[in-house]
Amino acid sequence: MKKTVFQLAFGLAMAFSLSLASCDKNGNLNLLSVDEDKQLGVQVSAEIAANPTQYPLLPESNTVAYTNLRAIIDRVLNSGKLTYRDEFAWQVKIIQDDNTLNAFCTPGGYIYVYTGLIKYLDTEAQLAGVLGHEIAHADRRHTSRSMTQQYGYNFVVQAILGKDSSLITQMALNLKSLQNSRAHETEADAYSVTYLSATQYPCNGAAGFFEKLIASGQSGSTPAFLSTHPNPDNRVSAINTAADKQGCINRTASSDNFTKLRNALP
Ligand SMILES: [Zn+2]
Repeated sequence: MKKTVFQLAFGLAMAFSLSLASCDKNGNLNLLSVDEDKQLGVQVSAEIAANPTQYPLLPESNTVAYTNLRAIIDRVLNSGKLTYRDEFAWQVKIIQDDNTLNAFCTPGGYIYVYTGLIKYLDTEAQLAGVLGHEIAHADRRHTSRSMTQQYGYNFVVQAILGKDSSLITQMALNLKSLQNSRAHETEADAYSVTYLSATQYPCNGAAGFFEKLIASGQSGSTPAFLSTHPNPDNRVSAINTAADKQGCINRTASSDNFTKLRNALP
């Protein structure tokens, strides 16, 4: 009898502590806390800043490029649709690499955009759509969940605690090629549409990028974005369907910030 009561109490305590530890404001399970996401972001972004060979960052002194990129990102961030708008850092850095079509975001909201992607795109809405997708990976906390899946919870926590600096180095190096699950990709696409629906941009901007990738896919080499973001064909129609439902496709938005950004790149 005593044992049964003990087991019941123990079971309840476990269930309670698990629900405390793992349910976030998005309603999703996550082994890491929101604070751990933020700490990961601080540490990984510091590691990226310290590794100019792998991540040659465009200097902040290029204020024209950063001001105009910031203007585009802020419209997405201020859409009122984010969960962690005020908690996460939402910093942005441009990586000088014209040969890489990619963008990524750390847990805690440190966004990285390659010059290759900016130069490849045609419109501001396409860039806003891709940024919306990457912002969703951080705000929906996909990236921290993918990291704990790839490395294991203990590895990530050891990295955050900083007992072995090589762990963060390793995570920072692999971040650009971190695989997200198909479910996370689908959700990030859907949130890109939702974020953009509350901006001036046609909300299917991300689809324009995928259509361009598909059209140029004949060349043989796989762009970085495609190797980590599978299934472009299905995604175009899913994005367009969601955008159509939300009635935010047929908009003409200025590409003024985008043009200034692109012209300011070396
Ligand atoms: Zn993605």
